[in-house]
Amino acid sequence: MNATVSAENNIIFGPINSRRFGLSLGVDLSSFAKQCNFDCLYCELAPAATVSAQTQTIPVFTIIEELKKHLHEKVDVITLTANGEPTLYPYLDELIDEIDKIKGNTQTLILTNSATLVDEKVFTSLLKLDQVKLSLDAVSPDIFKKIDRPHSTIKIDEVVSKVIEFSKVYKGKLFIEILFVYELNDTKEEVQKLNDVMLQLNASRIDLGTIDRPPAYPVMGISYKELHEIALQFDNSLPIHIASRVHAEPNNGSYSNEEIINTLDKRPLTKEDIDLLFDDASKHRLQTLVNSHEIVKKTVGNLEFFLPAQNITRKRKK
Ligand code: SF4
Repeated sequence: MNATVSAENNIIFGPINSRRFGLSLGVDLSSFAKQCNFDCLYCELAPAATVSAQTQTIPVFTIIEELKKHLHEKVDVITLTANGEPTLYPYLDELIDEIDKIKGNTQTLILTNSATLVDEKVFTSLLKLDQVKLSLDAVSPDIFKKIDRPHSTIKIDEVVSKVIEFSKVYKGKLFIEILFVYELNDTKEEVQKLNDVMLQLNASRIDLGTIDRPPAYPVMGISYKELHEIALQFDNSLPIHIASRVHAEPNNGSYSNEEIINTLDKRPLTKEDIDLLFDDASKHRLQTLVNSHEIVKKTVGNLEFFLPAQNITRKRKK
């Protein structure tokens, strides 16, 4: 049974300044309880039994009324999210249409775990959004089941096929997020499988992250250095971005000019990445390379990357 609930005070949150998406006004489509088709080991919400549909829903009218109160012209993006999985919201299509009527120049974005893309209705609704972020933590069924603990009806091979299909027809900005958990999806074999899928997608950016908030279950993230090493295992034509963490431990590595160019050749880095990876002398050497135009900056999405000047025109091979 689907019960309607009133949760006016908690539907809208922010705006918060998101480094990846700009000034983001959040819309929580399950603000009163966790309703998710996954029960991820790393979830920052408490563990909960998975569901395949929302049993408690907020009326579209209530969400729109609340959104109108908080939306202003400085907001870059209206982010549809949830205590759980936002695409389980049964009136998503109607909600997107209603937001489109009031959003003006603001972009719409959804953060989803990708599993409901197998549902034709959800697939079609997401095509209407300006930006979509799809999570994909694993390709191997056993690893997927261990990390994301999905509802019994979800098959990862079907999800991966739909992610690929979606990326081919979607006209907006597509972001992919992969979250690494220590000793689960951080193996060379799994990274290779993820890489093979990423090469079939048309993603604007692929964010690699790890656990940076207390997780639902006793699992560990990987270090920033390990995340960087994983980033290097992906094909260098892919728009990989290491999602820096506030609490990441600095690596303070020493890089010669040649090593800086080689490192940025393999994987462009943001200023935040460099702050974590390079020691002060290496940062100074990087600045000298920027001044001499051997290293340049390039903006992708909301992020600015450093890369060798000669790579600026490099095209993806696949
Ligand atoms: S998909 Fe998101 S909300 Fe659902 S369990 Fe995983 S991390 Fe938590």
